[in-house]
Order: sequence, then structure tokens, then C-alpha cells
Amino acid sequence: MVNAAGKFGPYGGGDTRLLPGRGPTGSELVRSRIALRVRLGSVSPRDRLPDAGVLAEELGISEITVRRALEGMCQDGLLDRRRGRAGGTFVAEGWDAVVALMHDAEESASLDAFHLLLECGLVAHSAGEVPAGPLEELQALVDEMDLTDDPARLLELETLFHLDLAEALGGPGVREFAADLLGRLSLLAPAPTPEVIRARNRCHAELLAELGRGAMDPAVQAVKAHQQSHQETHPR
Ligand SMILES: [Zn+2]
Repeated sequence: MVNAAGKFGPYGGGDTRLLPGRGPTGSELVRSRIALRVRLGSVSPRDRLPDAGVLAEELGISEITVRRALEGMCQDGLLDRRRGRAGGTFVAEGWDAVVALMHDAEESASLDAFHLLLECGLVAHSAGEVPAGPLEELQALVDEMDLTDDPARLLELETLFHLDLAEALGGPGVREFAADLLGRLSLLAPAPTPEVIRARNRCHAELLAELGRGAMDPAVQAVKAHQQSHQETHPR
């Protein structure tokens, strides 16, 4: 399917090479991208979403598919439709409560495991070849995470780190792929607490240091340790 580089969020841009295998359906794509936008704080509960036509263009799918997906999300209670001049489709006020009901430990564990494989593979694939520029930009995210006390900003930075990492190591197409995974995960698992994000941030710093000196094994270990700081908070 077509997954055009989106203006829908800060993860788009550039050419988008499609990865082999089954991509998300149009409807899954709409859900995961809206969920990712909420996770990144670019839209909040009660905010109005762009019109279906705009979303369709941004996501590179048909408007009718977007309309159906939005309708489904309204039925689930994730979105609200309002008629009239100030009408449109809005992120539901109860977004967080509805998402909490949708949590699925089993499916989120399998997506998490897949995300881990993706990052380990990317690290192994690009060890010793990562240019300094993207590593410095990732380090700036790590530094900001160490300094901020705002839980929403922490969550945004944590998500951005993994999107930027995917792009730095795999290119814009892999960023889109990671965006699908992280958007879906944000509907299936509770958001990490600030304490967990801080623990993970030590793994981020270690990962960048090891990538910088081209040390593949310790870099992969840092990716795995990041995953474990997640599992400790959500025992399965
Ligand atoms: Zn992280």
C-alpha cells in the first residue's frame, strides 16, 4: 500500500521506501498515526483533527478510508464528531480512559519484542557507520530528557528518540515503520512513567556512546537493557 511521507507529524519527510511484508491497512494507519500524534503531544484531548481530506493526503491513502477509520474511532470513543460551523472531528476528552480500556498485554508484548528486534537489527546493521551529526542530535534529546521535569515532554522526547534513532540508522522509510509500531503500541500498553523514562534514558546515553565508537555488542546490550527497564514496570 502507499504510505507517502506524511506531513502528519514530525516523523515524515524525505522519500519513503516501503519495507517488505504486510504493511498496516489504511484504517490501522489512521489509528496508529493519530495515536502517535497524541503521544507526541501534537494534538491533545478536545483538539480538532485536520479534515479527512487533509489526513488522506498526508497519509497517502484515500479519503473514504480515512472517513471510515475516523468513524470507527468515534464508535470506540477515541474521537468525537461535532456538527455545525465549529464542527469537525475532535480527540475525545476521555481519550486516556478509553485507551486504558484497550490495553492488551499480550499484543503489546509481541509488538515490543518486534520493536526490540528492529532496533537490534538497525544497530548491528549500522555499527561503525553512523555519522556524527545524527548522533549529536540524538544526544541533544537525551540531554533534554535529563533536564526536564514535565512528564508530557518526557514522554514526547522518549518517543522522538526512537523515531529519530530509526531514521538515523535506517533512513526515512524505517522511521515510518517505527512510527507505525510506536503508534500502535501507544494504544496497547500504558505509557511509561517518568521514572521508567529516566532509567531508559541511561540506556539511550550508553547506546549513543557505543554507536559513536562503533562497538556493536555493547550497543546491542544497551538496546536490550532499555527493553528490560520497560518490562520491570509491566511484569508479564
Ligand atoms: Zn527509549
